[in-house]
Amino acid sequence: MSATLGPKLALARAVGAVSRVRGGGGTSLPGKLLVRMDSSAIAELAARLPRGSVLVSATNGKTTTAAMAASILEAAGISLVHNQAGANMAGGIASTLLGAAGRSGTIAGELGLFEVDELWLDRLAGQLHPRVVVLANLFRDQLDRYGELETIAERWAGTVRAGGPAERARLVCNADDPLVADLGRERAQSDYEPADLKRERAEVGGVPVQGDHEPAAFELEQAEVGGELAQDAHGPADAHEPAGVLYFGVDDDSLALASMAHAADAKHCRRCGAPYVFDAVYLGHLGHYHCESCGQRRPSPTVLARSVVLEGVRSARFQLSTPDGEAEVKLALPGLYNVYNALAAAALGVALGISLADIVAGLESTTAAFGRAETVTVAGRETRILLVKNPAGANEVLRTLALEPGCHDLLGVLNDNTADGHDVSWIWDADFELLVGRVRLATCSGTRAPELALRLKYAGIEPERIRVIDDLPHALAAATAEYPASGGGRLADNAAKQSPTGEGRLMVAEESAAAGEQPRAEESSSRLNRAAPLYVLPTYTAMLALRELLVRRGEADSSWQ
Ligand SMILES: [Zn+2]
Repeated sequence: MSATLGPKLALARAVGAVSRVRGGGGTSLPGKLLVRMDSSAIAELAARLPRGSVLVSATNGKTTTAAMAASILEAAGISLVHNQAGANMAGGIASTLLGAAGRSGTIAGELGLFEVDELWLDRLAGQLHPRVVVLANLFRDQLDRYGELETIAERWAGTVRAGGPAERARLVCNADDPLVADLGRERAQSDYEPADLKRERAEVGGVPVQGDHEPAAFELEQAEVGGELAQDAHGPADAHEPAGVLYFGVDDDSLALASMAHAADAKHCRRCGAPYVFDAVYLGHLGHYHCESCGQRRPSPTVLARSVVLEGVRSARFQLSTPDGEAEVKLALPGLYNVYNALAAAALGVALGISLADIVAGLESTTAAFGRAETVTVAGRETRILLVKNPAGANEVLRTLALEPGCHDLLGVLNDNTADGHDVSWIWDADFELLVGRVRLATCSGTRAPELALRLKYAGIEPERIRVIDDLPHALAAATAEYPASGGGRLADNAAKQSPTGEGRLMVAEESAAAGEQPRAEESSSRLNRAAPLYVLPTYTAMLALRELLVRRGEADSSWQ
């Protein structure tokens, strides 16, 4: 540690303490100050981590993926330094490291697990020198903040290719996201072999190679990881899968959508520019695809999900296949998007040599973070909060809601603050049509409440079921006060049959969910007799405002991040 870092850590901590006393949220404030005082602080503190760092980046789901990965690594007995949701830029990560840093060069944790904002990946990789980088997906998100998808893809490509700040990291890539899979293939084509992997292979081959900076504990892990050997021995061999890239994906034709959803992006081959032909679409632009022009196709994943069963807004289960074998995973989180998050976390576990048992235990013990299918009780009513921040994410939430029987009460909170994106036109790409005939009462709130109401109306939801209450506390009070009349389930069935659009998919989805688990019928009828939950669909800053409101009222725990 540099002689000067110690006093800076102390000063940054003191400022953080003062900020907390004053009631400022500012989890990133001490870290921002620290980085301002010493631009190499992140690198210096991260270098103390005996097992190094792993990074998780994605447009959608990185918080949940990192939470699942944390759960897996903890199940394996690895102590972590892990940043909290949202604190995923330099200031937040510096704050996290600062919080774990001890005196005289120590740190309270073995491995750094960092969720990283997609536009900060290159800069933070340069400081954190990750062992593994998870690139989970790239969806169109907050256009006015980030520009085109391709811009992010270019920066990610520059991060992971030879000469980039993460050139030595093993990559974990989503095979079903063409843009992300292309980045893995591009690295392979650069003909570059990461140094870490050379060392790993040498060890696996029985020739111990002394790492220049790594502790002994690491060596066992590397021998276990032996990515290439493991793949040769067990995995679906794929000549295109390069050293140092581990792919994950879904193999389940029963999930395939009839056509590409509105929100689909990144449909063009990065190599030749021709449109990808999709053989199956699972979620947005995620699926099985190939390029008819140049022959580029989806890489075969080493970590994959089969026999996926989506169980409404409560849970999902699937058969997880890894080089170590297969196991059924029961997630306490809903939706195909969480199956993808689980696959990314499982693949990270595989890349780190974690056992299948620990991977499954970690995935199954992960519960929702605030705003990610969190359930709270508001004014005595069960309230589920489902963050919506871009079309693809919103579509998955809507698809998940559509799987839940009955008519729903919704509170949509649409804000257009900077962190939400000032341009809210994305709501027109979200398939609210999925909810036609399934809405009992929709309350629209937030800075752009009228626009959301208009969107719902154009989706085909009856205007008399839509109301606008701009002010969030009033909207929440009104929405929670309304209980559905009894017999809501019957109403839903009739309505779904009569709905002009989208009904085929809804009914099929519902039937397949019911068929997937026989005892559900009983459960669902008893559930309909209780007061149905309120579903809140907030954008990012709306979710933060909601959390503040609930914490103030004592209805949510202030430890939620
Ligand atoms: Zn092509």
